[in-house]
Amino acid sequence: MSDCLFCKIIAGDIPSKKVYEDESVYAFYDIDPQAPTHFLVIPKEHVESCGAITPENSAVVAKCFEAISKITKELGLTDFRVVSNCGPQAGQTVFHLHFHVLSGRDMTWPPG
Ligand code: 5GP
Ligand code: ZN
Repeated sequence: MSDCLFCKIIAGDIPSKKVYEDESVYAFYDIDPQAPTHFLVIPKEHVESCGAITPENSAVVAKCFEAISKITKELGLTDFRVVSNCGPQAGQTVFHLHFHVLSGRDMTWPPG
């Protein structure tokens, strides 16, 4: 998607601080971190949100979570939270599926 911020980050048109990359996933640090460690894991395929997952594209979710497991092990993170906001009321501001990974501080539940 030519007007999608995260597609532009994947393409390298907008700079980002890369955490991990493979053929189907890209991960990078959030520009406005909400925890001592806060990065985003996104599929390279443009999918709008969790609400747009179908049997045809659901493999990208597994790839993202495989990456989350790998990255957190590499960073030595044992305790972390994974969040995906779906829709404006839930706090989604970028409409390319992404999983926030937050770590390094106490987390509250329920989230605000
Ligand atoms: P959402 O609000 O959609 O759940 O998450 C979008 C996230 O993308 C936010 O946490 C925001 O800080 C991050 N973000 C927005 N623009 C950029 C950018 O240009 N670079 C990086 N690294 N993160 C961004
Ligand atoms: Zn996109």
